[in-house]
Amino acid sequence: MSALGEFDLIRAYFDRPVRRNALGVGDDCALLTPSPGMQLAVSSDMLVEGRHFLSTVAPAHLGHKALAVNLSDLAACGARPLGYTLALALPRAEPGFLAGLAQGLHALADAHEIELVGGDTTAGPLNLCITVFGEVPPGQALLRSGARAGDELWVSGQLGDARLALEVFRGHLDLPGEGFAAVRRAMELPTPRVALGLALRGIASAAIDLSDGLLGDLAHVLKRSGGLGATLHADALPRSAWVDAQAPSMRHELQLSGGDDYELLFTAPPARHAAVRDAGVRSATPLTCIGRIDAEAGVRVLDHRGQPVATPWASFDHFRVP
Ligand code: ADP
Ligand code: MG
Repeated sequence: MSALGEFDLIRAYFDRPVRRNALGVGDDCALLTPSPGMQLAVSSDMLVEGRHFLSTVAPAHLGHKALAVNLSDLAACGARPLGYTLALALPRAEPGFLAGLAQGLHALADAHEIELVGGDTTAGPLNLCITVFGEVPPGQALLRSGARAGDELWVSGQLGDARLALEVFRGHLDLPGEGFAAVRRAMELPTPRVALGLALRGIASAAIDLSDGLLGDLAHVLKRSGGLGATLHADALPRSAWVDAQAPSMRHELQLSGGDDYELLFTAPPARHAAVRDAGVRSATPLTCIGRIDAEAGVRVLDHRGQPVATPWASFDHFRVP
């Protein structure tokens, strides 16, 4: 039996002093202090072993990713992060695992100057559910619903590395050691684009973070923006050397349907092109214009010769078997 009880565990790994919020771990509720007049932005994301991560992942990477995917949602809304809660189910109270997990969480939280303010801990199959709290001036949150016909379509960073790593783990593709290390980092240690989300306030017309794959997430924007369509340039999608080295059909699949990128996909009127570029510079985030929004419904994916690219992949859905 483990000597570490529930409350020792919380105290040892999750109870840290709070500075920017009024009350953190240790009471029945946390008390947050948003800046006066701000709207709260709230989002939850759950990570389940075997579904969202492999049991082989280093605990510190798991901690990073659990918080990163939540911060990515705040980024997509242009919200500034304030704090987060962690609901954790664990099979065993293993100090090595907990120390690594806590280190990954706390390092990313410190980098964003946010605090773990509370949560819940229970025995059970490994499962982490984080809720993040952020703030945004009323009416300035970036939404999925603001895209307009004629807007340019932009994406941050590079697409496809995380899915490439998964395909290597599954034994479907092979990569040299150096390449595998690089794409595995992309899968396990995504960078939430918080600074970009803040820089895009007042510039982007719509935004979403890419968790389920470009085509699926783009479809959410188009639907919420009133049934618009888009034209997308498949060969213009930003990519690493490792994705670039794949055959075109595999490259298209990795980049168009692969999930777990945690980049921002957003739209802005062409008149704001220079302002978007400037937001990329201010947030030190690489940006690529990958297409445009059309009044005609449906997504047209074209290759570098302007020929249609087949897109036979279904978007990821937890309750539908492909
Ligand atoms: P209650 O029984 O009132 O729900 P708990 O006994 O579950 O409270 O938790 C005690 C304190 O520890 C609370 O402040 C709670 O927010 C915090 N806490 C519990 N688990 C975690 C965790 N995994 N991370 C951060 N804080 C936690
Ligand atoms: Mg409780």
